[in-house]
Amino acid sequence: MIRKAVFPGCYLQGKDILRNFGGIDALEKKKVFILATHTAMKKIIPENLPFWKKICDITYEEFNGACTWDEINRVLEIAREGAYDFIVGMGGGKTIDTARVVAGQLGVKYIAAPTIAATDAPTASACVVYSNEGSVVDYFSTRNPDYVIVDTKVIAEAPVRFLVSGMGDALATWFEAETCDRSWFRNVCGGFNLRAIMALAHVCYETLLTYGKAARISCENNLVSPALEYVVEANTLLSGLGFESGGLSTAHGIHDCLCNLEGTHAYYHGEKVAFGTLAGLFLEARPQALIDEVYAFCRSVELPTSLAQIGLESVTDQELEAAVFPVLQNKQSYLHNVRFDLTSEGIIEALRMADAMGRDLSE
Ligand SMILES: [Zn+2]
Repeated sequence: MIRKAVFPGCYLQGKDILRNFGGIDALEKKKVFILATHTAMKKIIPENLPFWKKICDITYEEFNGACTWDEINRVLEIAREGAYDFIVGMGGGKTIDTARVVAGQLGVKYIAAPTIAATDAPTASACVVYSNEGSVVDYFSTRNPDYVIVDTKVIAEAPVRFLVSGMGDALATWFEAETCDRSWFRNVCGGFNLRAIMALAHVCYETLLTYGKAARISCENNLVSPALEYVVEANTLLSGLGFESGGLSTAHGIHDCLCNLEGTHAYYHGEKVAFGTLAGLFLEARPQALIDEVYAFCRSVELPTSLAQIGLESVTDQELEAAVFPVLQNKQSYLHNVRFDLTSEGIIEALRMADAMGRDLSE
């Protein structure tokens, strides 16, 4: 039995730290290639380029918006020709994943520089590759970033919905790690859980409860408060370590079911994971006091607590059944990381319970 955890080499977080790349000495006089989202190309790069040029030799390229093999190969060609020392992914999860695969294939240093705190992907080694039509075609691990640089000023100026969605993804972390740990399921990096990770996953949950609402207000007003800093850390580092080295279970399994319903496609990963967490609480028969605590948190930061709030106002049981079935059939799904027999009926009941409680509270 092997207990295992994986980590990024170095995690740097702070206000305005992108200006000097967090003071990473290893960058000095090196050739650095940045893959950047459209938003980063418009604002972050022009603002910081004069400062970066004093440190290293910078080249940048705009990301085409989707992590597909076509895009990975296009960026790989450019990056290979330039013989860069560092590859930087600057943007959201898809940009970061594309840069991660390119750096992995070239065997060069990799920096994740998330410009939103919407998911826990930046610290991880896993990447998701999509088809040109938008469905998932590959899911695999390369390696964790050598550096993660999170500029909290950039996060505070991004739309608040991203930060709140990140809280939804982070909300699942403790519950899923705890379920995997208690029942001896392997975590996402393939080992059993270390106490260190369980401690981090619990701090992740406590941080959200304690600072979530203030962080939301902070982001709405583009202010970098300590609460925002703590929640950015929870969304990015604590949740990232927590999911990869602590394991996934019902929250992400139910998220995958929800993704099979067209109505949810306009909603972010973390918004669906948050509702998956609520349904998971009922599925796993968690105590009511805990359920009350989680609902109060979701309402305080405006995460969804009803099916209507994730685009499923009039979803039928037949539609839910059709969405749950393929995930239930897939024995590799994290949904199966529970020590009882799952049925589609039980999962639909949990979704209806989560919805009923959410609607009850809003009346
Ligand atoms: Zn997630």
